Amino acid sequence: MQLTLKRIAGLISILLFLVACTAPKSREEVFGLLNLDRPGLEEVKSHCEKKQWAEASEALLGYYRTRQGIYIPGQESRTASSRDSLWAADAMQHTFHVLADTVWNYGKDINWEYWPVKDIEMRVQLHRHGWWYSLGRMYCTSGDEKYAAEYVDEFRDWVKKNPYKPFGVDQNGTVSSGSLDVNSPNECFAWRPLEIGIRLLRWCTHFSLFLDSPQFTPEFLLEFLQSYHQNASVLMRSFSPSGNHLIHQSSGVIRAGICFPEFKDAESWVKAGVDNLKAEISRQSYPDGCHFELDPGYHIGVVESYDDAIQVAVDNGRLDLFPAEVLEQLVRMASYYQDYCYPDWTHPCFSDARRHDDLASPELLKDISGYCDSPQARQILWFATEGREGEAPSYKSSGHPDTGFYAFRDGWYDANIIMPVKATERGMWHAQPDFGTFELWAYGKILMPDAGAYVYSGDTEIERQRAYFKATARHNALTLDDRNYDAPKPKVLAWQPDAGRGVQRLVVEHEAYEGLTRRRSISFVKEKYFEIVDEVSGPASGRLTLRNGFGRGALERISEGEYVYRDGCAGLSISITGPKGSVISVDTDWFSEAMHEKSERPVLRIDLDRASGAGPQRFVTVLRPFYIPKDN
Ligand code: MG
Repeated sequence: MQLTLKRIAGLISILLFLVACTAPKSREEVFGLLNLDRPGLEEVKSHCEKKQWAEASEALLGYYRTRQGIYIPGQESRTASSRDSLWAADAMQHTFHVLADTVWNYGKDINWEYWPVKDIEMRVQLHRHGWWYSLGRMYCTSGDEKYAAEYVDEFRDWVKKNPYKPFGVDQNGTVSSGSLDVNSPNECFAWRPLEIGIRLLRWCTHFSLFLDSPQFTPEFLLEFLQSYHQNASVLMRSFSPSGNHLIHQSSGVIRAGICFPEFKDAESWVKAGVDNLKAEISRQSYPDGCHFELDPGYHIGVVESYDDAIQVAVDNGRLDLFPAEVLEQLVRMASYYQDYCYPDWTHPCFSDARRHDDLASPELLKDISGYCDSPQARQILWFATEGREGEAPSYKSSGHPDTGFYAFRDGWYDANIIMPVKATERGMWHAQPDFGTFELWAYGKILMPDAGAYVYSGDTEIERQRAYFKATARHNALTLDDRNYDAPKPKVLAWQPDAGRGVQRLVVEHEAYEGLTRRRSISFVKEKYFEIVDEVSGPASGRLTLRNGFGRGALERISEGEYVYRDGCAGLSISITGPKGSVISVDTDWFSEAMHEKSERPVLRIDLDRASGAGPQRFVTVLRPFYIPKDN
């Protein structure tokens, strides 16, 4: 009987919550969300007590327009860039830049369910409203009310056409964890918890940019506050169980609580977000600072999300929310990223990373360098300021044998040659079966880019393309019958940043396939060239193929096994040899550095039929970067 009553009480509380989340609120109810005893809200409270809702709304708008002591991130970034100008002009026509490289027109009467290419990422990112920043900055720069009017119209349209509906377990619990089926109902895309978290982060900046506009009426203020509160309330009940999504969501509720302390729920949002971040830092990163997704984009994205949460606390006098262990681990994560970061602030496209998305910046690394006083923190500051502040690292090439990222380099922000290497365990969904693969940067160009990811997830065609780019055979790797590697259990046989005679060396090994052990040795000689030795052993037989993929430049055959690749002022001479019977040829394949964009590239391959009973077999590749003074 007791259990039954408990269940009924539970059901009633869930129903009340759902009603609270879904039903439009009267003005009175919106004021009920606020702590009217907060200093500065005396006039609002007085009007509310007299049920003078119009006057109370006016007073509340006046309060927010003159509010002191609350800093909203981005509130001072009011100057529009040329990109903002383009994005805002397009937004006026309902052509939304959902992703930097994805632009669709959603119609005069906006169709928030328009989705011509069934990649989940295109559908969900629409609901993050990234282009509203551009409308805001164009408004602040030009003072033209049309931008504010457009923002208000689009905000209201989105709220009207994308009502929250609980989805709970009807999608097998996958909405909360981030995975979606292409046939899911609209609310699963619009109200996926990650998108809610990102709206909480972004909407308050939009709020600050448009707040002084006459379009931002007292009525609109109440609509905004109601929707903002609804987003935070829904998220508090639907946090992802773990993963990078939870970090963004936690940062979202922290910002909501700190930037809108007038809400009665504000402190509970802050506490929930901080508790999540404290728990997740050790779950989502290894002791050496590597992020568990094994993806440079996610790695720095999570660091940035932590920094978002911490900076809003710092700027509002609340750094004490975060313990030293969290701040010190973020320094380790930033240092780990610095090790493979290129001088142009891009990173290798390993796993799902894209070349120009989710990047570090000098500002981000400067923030992180202030979190503690350690050699790593001082070195991060040195890198971020190109040597003007901080302390130069005592090393150039770096290795993290516990997790598997390495980088050979001849310098830092002034490097001419960098080879990041990924020799990690398989990892999870974002990672690829690419053990021992590498990129090669030389003289300002990525001469050997990773094939990238091209797409995320979606319908059958999208999944087919994802599998293609993810495959081992798209990487600088040695395959057997073009199959993907088994889950590797990597062994680090040697990591010698100084192996003598000017040689730096990495030797790793894995059971690439059942019956085939592959050992890859990479030597960086006198900081000038690389010698890569791939050796296979074991009873397996089949076609062995070693591939080396290049970028947008041209590959020219010089003689048997000798090639030259040129891209602008940067070049690479390549020498490749294999066991007797090997056949060298040039293929054409694809690589991708941005979502849904791909470029053709030459791939140098060497094939060998490995007979049953063959002993160890070796392939040797020498890569020698050079600089061409004139672009010829
Ligand atoms: Mg890859």
